[in-house]
Formats: sequence, structure tokens, C-alpha cells
Amino acid sequence: MVTAMKRRGAIGLAIGGGMMGIPGCRKGDSAPGGPPERANPNPAAQNMAPPPEGHDLVPVRVEESLEIRTIAGLRPYRPSGFVVRREDVSGKTLVHNYGHGGGGFSLSWGSARLAVDLALPMAGLECAIVGAGIMGLCTGRLLQQHGAKVAIYARDLPPETTSNVAGAQWWPFSVFDNSRRTDAFARQYVQAAEFSHRYFQQHTGPEWGVSWMPNYYLSDGQPMNGWIGGPGGVLHGLQTDFRDFAPGEHVFSKGHARRFYSMLIEPSVYLPRLIREFREAGGEITVRPFAAAAEVLSLPQPVIFNCAGLGAGTLFNDPELVPIKGQLTFLMPQPEVRYNLMSGDCYMFPRCDGILLGGTYETGQWDAAPDPQAKARIFAAQRRIFQTMADMQRAHRGSGAAPERI
Ligand SMILES: Cc1cc2nc3c(=O)[nH]c(=O)nc-3n(C[C@H](O)[C@H](O)[C@H](O)COP(=O)(O)OP(=O)(O)OC[C@H]3O[C@@H](n4cnc5c(N)ncnc54)[C@H](O)[C@@H]3O)c2cc1C
Repeated sequence: MVTAMKRRGAIGLAIGGGMMGIPGCRKGDSAPGGPPERANPNPAAQNMAPPPEGHDLVPVRVEESLEIRTIAGLRPYRPSGFVVRREDVSGKTLVHNYGHGGGGFSLSWGSARLAVDLALPMAGLECAIVGAGIMGLCTGRLLQQHGAKVAIYARDLPPETTSNVAGAQWWPFSVFDNSRRTDAFARQYVQAAEFSHRYFQQHTGPEWGVSWMPNYYLSDGQPMNGWIGGPGGVLHGLQTDFRDFAPGEHVFSKGHARRFYSMLIEPSVYLPRLIREFREAGGEITVRPFAAAAEVLSLPQPVIFNCAGLGAGTLFNDPELVPIKGQLTFLMPQPEVRYNLMSGDCYMFPRCDGILLGGTYETGQWDAAPDPQAKARIFAAQRRIFQTMADMQRAHRGSGAAPERI
């Protein structure tokens, strides 16, 4: 049976556990950007109140006629968190690196680094990787940087992987159930996140499709701080230009808004670029499905990395690994929209391949076919969010009464 999972409930997320940036795929963007200069840095001196946060942001046009596609994917989720572990079996070194839930893009480079560290030294060694999603590709590149000769085997290649469905906002979110968090996992999570955050910064700009973006997290009550984000959170240091806005200080559709900057990654740019780099460094990619662990272990390479995402559950008998289905509707690109927005389960990312509207988390759902009813719900909720935002902006400009927040 499908169980709807509330993203900010069991998964242990604090609101704005969130982000900000610069579009990496738009013409003319040559370098990563940061927070813009505030228009009115010293309002007291100028004897005027600062404008509300978001007064100058362009609301998304949420219209059915602008839809270009609807897709869904299955996040590979483990309540106790992703696995990075080495075992020596059948004369081979086997390193697992899978189960990153809704944060696999964000954690990719860091998790790959932890996995590679378990098999060092690698110079001159031949390695096999099962999986050509973000985890397999990052693991492959880091192995090459350590001097290994790497071959990837995978049932599906981009664009047919879950990694191609990712948002992909840089924020390791929906990755584990907070009630299952151990100290060892906490260390692994923080190490992976910090390394990854630093690594992705090398790739900002249009060539890789990574940009800095402001994130707004909306809530009825005061934003909650959690183990991950908000003051005191383990990743609060990565919430750049963090600030909370109270009612009256912003134009968004709920009472409170939390802002911070992070990166937004375009999977349709990033993954092909990564594959190119992997191949240029001598890496080989072969389409090959595996039915069982024994088949994987019969590969000729002495060192094998399991980066099979959700497929690792069947291959290596991990019953804890379950899908969390997520559905996304894309609208025609709206290049003037330059912020991410999260409200409850709804989220909007302004990608160059379309305005991404998301908002579903279905635990245990293995059917990745898009659901028309879910699409209708996402549309209705997102339309309300941006309609209210436009009304609030109009009221601020003085052309209407302040509307009720939804
Ligand atoms: C709707 C949605 C939104 C998301 N948003 C974000 C986000 O904003 N930020 C973020 O960080 N993350 C996000 N994610 C999560 C992210 O997409 C995943 O965590 C990540 O893609 C997992 O990468 P992976 O390489 O482990 O798995 P995959 O991309 O699934 O790759 C697995 C690879 O293993 C291969 N494989 C599997 N089984 C076998 C087998 N038996 N034999 C051979 N090959 C096999 C597959 O063919 C594939 O090549 C989102 C996911 C979804 C679905």
C-alpha cells in the first residue's frame, strides 16, 4: 500500500534545512554570482522603510497551457540513511555507495569520496562500477583522479536514470529518518555534504549548468530549526546569506519566509558533461543489467563499487531500501524567474529546461508513471502560491488592498 509521507515529518527536516544563486545556463552568465546588492542598504539614513523581501521577484505564470512535460522518479530511500561500506567477498573488494533518498545529487561528490577512500590506494588498479547515475559517475571520476582505470556497467544510462529526474537543488533533503540517525551516520552525512558543497562550487557557470540561487521556504508559523538547517543545525554554515522574514517583511503567500542561497544544478547539462569528462579520462561505459550479486562479483576487476541506487536493494538484498516517488511538472522556461520557492510539500525551481513544479512524496510506490490527479493538485497549489505573491506585490506597490495569505 502506498503511504503518503510528509516531507517535513518523519524524514527529520527543518524548514529551510533551504537556499539562493545565479542561473548557470542562461546566455551571458559567465561566472557564478552571489547575493545581489540590496537596493536600500541604509533605509534609516534615507528615512524610509526597506521594501519587503521579494518585492522585485517575478511570480511564476502557472498555466496549464504552458506545460511542456510531466515526469516522475523514485528516490532511493533508506530510513537509517545511505550506505557507504566496504566488504571483502569472493576475493574482491566490494564498496557500496547507494540509498541517498531525495539528496543524492547534493551528496554525490562527498559520498563518492567516502566510498573511494575505503578502497585506497588505487593507482594503477582496475575498478568496476555498477550504475551510471550521479553516484556512479562521481565515484568514477574520483577513482580516475586517484589513478585507477575505471569501467562503468549499467542497465540504464542518462537520460534514463533517476538522477536525470532530480530537481536538483543543492540541499541534502529527505535523506533519512531523524529518529533513526546514529552518530556514525551523522558524521558520514556531514562529511559527504561539506565535501560535496565545496566540490560543486568548482562547477558553477553555464558549462556545467550549476548556478547560485536564492531559496525561500514559506511557513505559517515561525520557521523551525532542526538538526540539519537553521541556527545550530549541522549544515547551517552552508546556508549562505541566511535570514528569516516575519509577517509584513515579505511578499510571499504564508506568514513567514526563510531565505538562504545555495546551488541549483541542471541535470540535463551536468550529467552529459560529467560523462564526457569520464570518457575523456579513459573511462568506459557499457550497458549491462545484472540480475544478482554473483553476476556483479564475476566481473574481472578486483575492486567493484555498487552505485546501483534503488537497484541495489534487489542486487544486494537490502530490504530497507524503498522508493519515494516524486512527480514533477515542467512549464515553458521563464528566464526572468530567478529563485527557488518551497511551501509545504510544493517546490518550484527555475531551470533552463523549464520551470519545475514539484510536490509529491509517496513512500513505497514503485510505479513511476505520472499520476494526473497528482498533477492537478500540484497545479492548483502552485497557482495559489504565485497568485497570492503577485497580489501581495501589487498591494505593496499601492495598487490594491493587501490580500489574505493562503
Ligand atoms: C522527483 C525527484 C526530485 C529530486 N530532487 C533532488 C534534489 O533537488 N536534490 C538532490 O540532491 N537530489 C534530488 N533527488 C534525489 C536524486 O535524484 C537521487 O538521490 C540520485 O539521483 C540517486 O543517484 P544514484 O546514482 O544513486 O541512482 P540512479 O540515478 O538511479 O542510478 C542508478 C544506476 O544504477 C543502475 N542499476 C540499477 N540496478 C541495476 C542492475 N540490476 N544492473 C545494472 N545496473 C543497475 C541504473 O541503471 C542506473 O544507471 C530527487 C529525486 C527525485 C525522484
